[in-house]
Amino acid sequence: MESHKLLIGGAWVDAVNGEREDVTSPFNGDIVGDVAVARPADAERAITAALSGFDVWRRTPAHVRFAILTKAAALADERAEEMAQIMSRENGKSLVEARGEAGRSGDIIRLSAFEGSQLYGDSLPLDANKGTGLEKLGFTIHQPVGVVVAISPFNYPALLVMHKVAPALAAGNAVVLKPARATPLTALALAKCFVDAGLPDGVLNVVTGGGSDLGDALVRDTRVRKISFTGSTRVGEHIASIAGIKKLSLELGASGPVIVLDDADIDAATTSIALGGYINAGQVCISAQRIIVHEKIVDDFLSALTPKVQAIRVGDPLAEGTAVGSMISRAEADRVTASIRAAVTSGARLVTGGEQDGSIIQPAIVADVDPFSPFAQDELFGPAVAVSAARNLEHAIDLANSTAYGLGAGVFTNNMSNSIRAIREIESGVVHINWTQLWRADLMPYGGFKASGIGKEGPRSAIAEMTEIKTVILHGTPWTHS
Ligand code: NAP
Repeated sequence: MESHKLLIGGAWVDAVNGEREDVTSPFNGDIVGDVAVARPADAERAITAALSGFDVWRRTPAHVRFAILTKAAALADERAEEMAQIMSRENGKSLVEARGEAGRSGDIIRLSAFEGSQLYGDSLPLDANKGTGLEKLGFTIHQPVGVVVAISPFNYPALLVMHKVAPALAAGNAVVLKPARATPLTALALAKCFVDAGLPDGVLNVVTGGGSDLGDALVRDTRVRKISFTGSTRVGEHIASIAGIKKLSLELGASGPVIVLDDADIDAATTSIALGGYINAGQVCISAQRIIVHEKIVDDFLSALTPKVQAIRVGDPLAEGTAVGSMISRAEADRVTASIRAAVTSGARLVTGGEQDGSIIQPAIVADVDPFSPFAQDELFGPAVAVSAARNLEHAIDLANSTAYGLGAGVFTNNMSNSIRAIREIESGVVHINWTQLWRADLMPYGGFKASGIGKEGPRSAIAEMTEIKTVILHGTPWTHS
């Protein structure tokens, strides 16, 4: 078991008040490590250190930033297995899922490093503006915003940290990272890759501790120029209400719809849903939660889906052959069990699964769900799908759009016109045709509409949101051509 400190100003330091806490496995309660508990005074120190780091980093040429980041990427590749082990232990996700996630860190850093070297501006055709002659030249340059505060959730402890930290650093910003309290160890292991790659002191700072305690100090500080937050809509709303004038990216919750039309390939749809509804024990913002099936094929759909869901191997995250591990805590598993029970009490039908053992829940299918009930409308964030029937495409799209959210959606159909209509009409940041929303290429723009958030991640989009555009005008004197 390792003990970890805060990373502030390039040094690993204790919290001001010396507090520490254990990080435990949600599967069996084993102690996985222990970390310093930062408080607002530590947040203040980290922001001050980040300002010093920014002073150096913003004057560091892009090719030097690129070299340091690609070295960090190589270290992340080398240490991927070690990070997968840490992640599986502290988060409860299966080792196979943790390996998949850890293996993406190096690539996200490389994609970001590349994008950070491509900060092209525009030249402005000023003479097209009436009254302006050829004596002026105008262009734009992109500059880093300054100190970026990155706040990340527990469900993807490497991926969602990397989607903030890597583009921020690549663009020349300094970062204060506050990882989820449940999963700080993966974030600290990733931070070490940047330190070992030679990132200057203060450019990346990590404070571990409670969000409700540290959050306000980090978010309100006027020296911070950008908040990049991924987490619940509830906390996102709070952050938006106190952030003041600074850039804000909010990647929030969802209740993701999947439409299965009567012309769909049911086998392909159910194979995809048996992954998309249950990966990471359903604790994914782009989980396939609401399955909206054409009324003509509901029975065939359920017959095809049920054996596939029953075949998912759930259990000890570190055991060979486990596909899906535990939820993040016993309390979260209790919450999901209560939601399933409430849905059944109000008339839905439990087709399979739902049995709880500690923090583990057997993958569940709940059919005949009222699409306007809390089980469909609220984010479940657990291993169950809610199946409801729709009369036709228009009705299905109306139901898909009926929640407060709009992050990702999937549509299964073999008809191109249906696909095009769904693509245009569904209110969500990403639409997949013939796959569920649980699919992400790290380079693609990724972010939600409505209560699912503000802004886009993906290295190119994130860098655009982590830089300022400066417009430059050179005023010459008018001349005549002789
Ligand atoms: P959460 O409770 O909102 O926490 C997210 C982060 O915010 C954690 O680091 C948390 O710290 C911190 N936090 C808590 N209170 C805060 C405050 N008052 N000010 C500032 N920060 C605060 O979310 P979660 O349970 O970790 O993650 C699940 C949620 O994230 C789901 O709603 C899911 O849909 C969403 N999510 C969205 C995306 C996306 O891309 N749209 C991706 C993944 C997850 P503590 O851990 O210390 O409480």
